[in-house]
Amino acid sequence: MDRLEQSRNDLKIRLDEIEESGYRLSCSRNKDWVNNIFKDIQNTDFTSIDEISIQIEVFRVGKDVFLKGLFNTTVRTSCVKCLDSFDLPIEAIFHYNLCAADEKELLPEKEINKADLDLSCYQGDSIDVVPLLREQIILNVPSYPLCQEACKGICPQCGLNLNHSLCQCDKKEVTSSRFEILKELSLKQ
Ligand SMILES: [Zn+2]
Ligand SMILES: [Zn+2]
Repeated sequence: MDRLEQSRNDLKIRLDEIEESGYRLSCSRNKDWVNNIFKDIQNTDFTSIDEISIQIEVFRVGKDVFLKGLFNTTVRTSCVKCLDSFDLPIEAIFHYNLCAADEKELLPEKEINKADLDLSCYQGDSIDVVPLLREQIILNVPSYPLCQEACKGICPQCGLNLNHSLCQCDKKEVTSSRFEILKELSLKQ
């Protein structure tokens, strides 16, 4: 990666670039850029397979900056139920109210709770959008990815992926016989 690319990776918006009508930023980053973010999450099972397109709108009132953003990309992950690999499109809209760091006492990172997440600070005369994007990408990947809402999972007996075919194991009998016993018990009472 050359220097030019590195500085472009900064994605910094200078305050004096934000005019009264706002500032718009539309760009994309390649999948390596996204994968670098995933590298920081432990035990992650997400791989970016597509570039990420980013749109950001920024407005400013004095030193307060309002940022509205949207990104979309596609990641590859595996289903927690059937373990199949699948591609998941991710699109997210996010908002940040940013205030100048000198106007608000900077809290140590761990004291900022989740409710304050959308209130952040910037330092100096520019806003680095990368940490905000990082945060949003991490927040928007599912912690329980499913290949489909109605994923049938894996047969606990033979290990067959039940989305692809049905196995011969008879699981119904196990559950129904339990119900039969319960029914009989309640009838006896
Ligand atoms: Zn699945
Ligand atoms: Zn089976």
